[in-house]
Amino acid sequence: MIEPLLIEKSVKGRLAYRLPPLDLPETFVRELEPLPAHLRREGSARLPEVSELDVVRHFTRLSKMVHGVDDGMYPLGSCTMKYNPKLGEEVARMAQFTRIHPLQDVSTVQGCLSVIHSLLEDLSAITGMSWGSLQPCAGSHGEYTGLKMIRAYFLKQGDRRRTKVLIPVSAHGTNPASAAVNGFDVVEVASNRKGLVDLADLKSKLSDEVAALMLTNPNTLGLFEEDILEISEAVHEAGALLYYDGANLNAIMGKARPGDMGFDVLHLNLHKTFSTPHGGGGPGSGPVMVNDLLRPFLPKPDIIPQEEGYAFDWDRPDSIGKVSMFWGNFLVYLRAYVYILRMGGEGLRAAAGHAVLNANYLAKKLAPYYEIPYTSGIMHEFVISVKNYKERYGVTAEDFAKALIDEGYHPPTVYFPLIVDEALMIEPTESESPESLDAFIEAMIRIAEKAKRDPASLKKAPVSTPVGRLDQVKAVKDAKVRY
Ligand SMILES: *Cc1c(COP(=O)(O)O)cnc(C)c1O
Repeated sequence: MIEPLLIEKSVKGRLAYRLPPLDLPETFVRELEPLPAHLRREGSARLPEVSELDVVRHFTRLSKMVHGVDDGMYPLGSCTMKYNPKLGEEVARMAQFTRIHPLQDVSTVQGCLSVIHSLLEDLSAITGMSWGSLQPCAGSHGEYTGLKMIRAYFLKQGDRRRTKVLIPVSAHGTNPASAAVNGFDVVEVASNRKGLVDLADLKSKLSDEVAALMLTNPNTLGLFEEDILEISEAVHEAGALLYYDGANLNAIMGKARPGDMGFDVLHLNLHKTFSTPHGGGGPGSGPVMVNDLLRPFLPKPDIIPQEEGYAFDWDRPDSIGKVSMFWGNFLVYLRAYVYILRMGGEGLRAAAGHAVLNANYLAKKLAPYYEIPYTSGIMHEFVISVKNYKERYGVTAEDFAKALIDEGYHPPTVYFPLIVDEALMIEPTESESPESLDAFIEAMIRIAEKAKRDPASLKKAPVSTPVGRLDQVKAVKDAKVRY
């Protein structure tokens, strides 16, 4: 059933709330500067007139129509939909953190400053970098910030020739976008047969016009770049820098560090690896971490411990400036800090191990039913191709995704990375138990059998949702966002 809008439930005169009587002299209200006439509404606002119970039922029903990690498995490759422990929520709701203001005197918010400082210390240790900034509010925002620092670094040296950023074809779409927004030209690097960076192609494209190579490792096929040290050497020999897209650190945290691999700058998605909620597209947290080379260019202010506590350091002449209001999404990265403290080093390492084990278990069990084009060293996620199903039975990756909804799962990422035809990118994360992995495998097998036996039925999926298959192009190109 489709839930009507509140405005459709409106009944004239029905109220959920009554304002207390006005306790200011009426003249005060009248004397307020009126808005210019052309900005004023002619009639009264058309707001829904509903009772409290109407509102509660409306939102409770809507809340049951969504699927989240708290409902069931959410194997969204590249985006790490892991469980968000409730302890993080509890801490982020403490009045000591919520009832403060970013403009308060620093002497009164020392606890919060110590959270910022300690979290940066922990993230430095986890990534093998020297320091960072928590200002960026999304992964893409971190990429933007990181590339801006790279740009500032070369400009500081008077090097204006480095206008290109190399990016493998398998990269996340935000990588070329961030490079372009920073004024760089994007040059694609090919993948080899194994799905890894093609070294020969990379070397042929390195020159004194290249500012950086942006790399995701493990890459978006879920594979570890085994030549990373050679890649790093080649990039640095050409005078360029190495950017690490660390949106998803799930496979390697506690096991390997981008700093040790030779990366100069990276961003993390705390809303993926470090277990803070994704929300409806936000708010997120995408800290940047750098080595000593780029440290002077970090956003300001830095935070420094002093004898009497923490202070902000604004005296940073090479800084790229601020990239966010105040100090980033404090209540979001506070949850990540709680997660890190609760897990500890051993816990994070174990989580990475389980994430990799779960992905490999799924890949192994699904291999008899689905083609997995790249299998050399699967890490936290893997990509299947349903190209053969499409050729033989006309069933596409989209059909498989929609059929999974009827099985009670959020679909995996589809049609990405672009180098795999009819791709479904599956990332179970460490949160899932063996029982829930087995249930998912059974669902995938059921769908594979249906694709062969009754392909037409998959074209109708989903049938268990309030609305069926949408016209996705129309939904994007012709969005109706007002009633
Ligand atoms: C999610 C993701 C990003 C972008 O992060 P946002 O927070 O969505 O901006 C970048 N790179 C990779 C590999 C990702 O998975």
